[in-house]
Amino acid sequence: MAASRDGQQPQNDGYRSLSLSGHVGFDSLPDQLVNKSIKQGFCFNILCIAGILCAKFLPQLFCLTLGETGTGKSTLIDSLFNTRFDDPVSTHFQPNVRLRAQTYELQESNVRLKLTIVNTVGFGDQINKEDSYQPIVDYIDAQFEAYLQEELKIKRSLFSYHDTRIHACLYFISPTGHSLKTLDLLTMKSLDSKVNIIPIISKADSISKTELQKFKNKLMSELVSNDVQIYQFPTDDETVSQINTVMNGHLPFAVVGSTEKVKIGNKMVKARQYPWGIVEVEKENHCDFVKLREMLICTNMEDLREQTHARHYELYRRSRLEEMGFRDTGPENKPVSLQEAYEAKRHEFYLELQGKEEEMRQHFVQRMKEKETILKEAEQQIQTKLEHLMLMHQEEKLKLEKKKKALEDDIAMFNKKKANAELLQTQAFVSTPVSLKRDKDRKNSGFV
Ligand code: GDP
Repeated sequence: MAASRDGQQPQNDGYRSLSLSGHVGFDSLPDQLVNKSIKQGFCFNILCIAGILCAKFLPQLFCLTLGETGTGKSTLIDSLFNTRFDDPVSTHFQPNVRLRAQTYELQESNVRLKLTIVNTVGFGDQINKEDSYQPIVDYIDAQFEAYLQEELKIKRSLFSYHDTRIHACLYFISPTGHSLKTLDLLTMKSLDSKVNIIPIISKADSISKTELQKFKNKLMSELVSNDVQIYQFPTDDETVSQINTVMNGHLPFAVVGSTEKVKIGNKMVKARQYPWGIVEVEKENHCDFVKLREMLICTNMEDLREQTHARHYELYRRSRLEEMGFRDTGPENKPVSLQEAYEAKRHEFYLELQGKEEEMRQHFVQRMKEKETILKEAEQQIQTKLEHLMLMHQEEKLKLEKKKKALEDDIAMFNKKKANAELLQTQAFVSTPVSLKRDKDRKNSGFV
């Protein structure tokens, strides 16, 4: 490659790198960015899912919490953000899974954080648990869809838009020592391409140290063998790669939560007090709470936000746009403009519509034919019935006419006989009046 006029080599991508002979000022860009971000404020959205409690564990919690889900989600979130979030109590008797989102505004120094905590209510509490995770998937997709719709608007306001996409999913696993439930694996598998999953063993004070390590190993190997992708703290940034690599080796974090404070020495610390001793929430050899807080909030919150946008949302956006018919390249790998993609989709839609119209027409014709056949058959039946009735009527009429004729003959005969009888009677009366008188006299004298 030939050297350029000023003796500097062109860069691989066609840009030349030049040196400045004095201060210009664009080195303040990162500060400008920081100032702008501080002014705008940040948002962070956490989804809490509690894994299925094994039957052995459930009654204990049930008694303790009077039916609350009770895996320690609220206590942990309160402990993480050093405040009390007013999360309403929920019961185990939910007919279906619901997601309850609550947004809070927090401020630390001059940084404002709009924090949304989404709690799953009733997850795994139903008798039929098969579709328990579907509402969670739908919720995550709905937040992506809302963002996509805002992006696609002509007049969009992404700057002031309240981004509700989930940045981190804390998956609470009870310290049972047993294998993960099928529903837990199914849920994590169906979520791992949509959200950054951080598995957490909650209430880690109820499992011994050796059992805990075995449990952690078991969980990790189950996740690997089921190809569940959990969030890995990034190791490509050299400022955090070392700590993140170490922390990836501690996953899943086993945490203890508490909102109670106990006096230790002359300090008040967050802890859980038992008859046999005190478990300090923020003591590294008691549990991984500090590791979780460091990783989730102090070191990788921005990476979680970025991964959500650049990886999970990107995947959703791509599949949705492809579904809508948009393509970057055409059949011969030629770039396709938005206009072309729109026209192609319009044409495809038009053809589809025509096809549907034709299908409907065919269906209509078919239905008409069927109706016509039915009507013809009915008409035929009526016609046959009518002819039959007419025939019967004809026969009946003939019979009646015959009967009428016979009756008329009888009447004529009767009239004739009657006339003859009357004639005979008249003749007899005229010819024998004396004998009739004699008969009368004999009757009157009592002689019979
Ligand atoms: P949620 O229903 O999942 O939000 O659970 P909560 O945070 O309301 O906790 C339920 C119960 O578990 C409460 O009595 C808490 O005090 C208790 N709890 C919370 N975190 C821990 C923990 O780390 N260890 C123990 N042993 N109990 C805990």
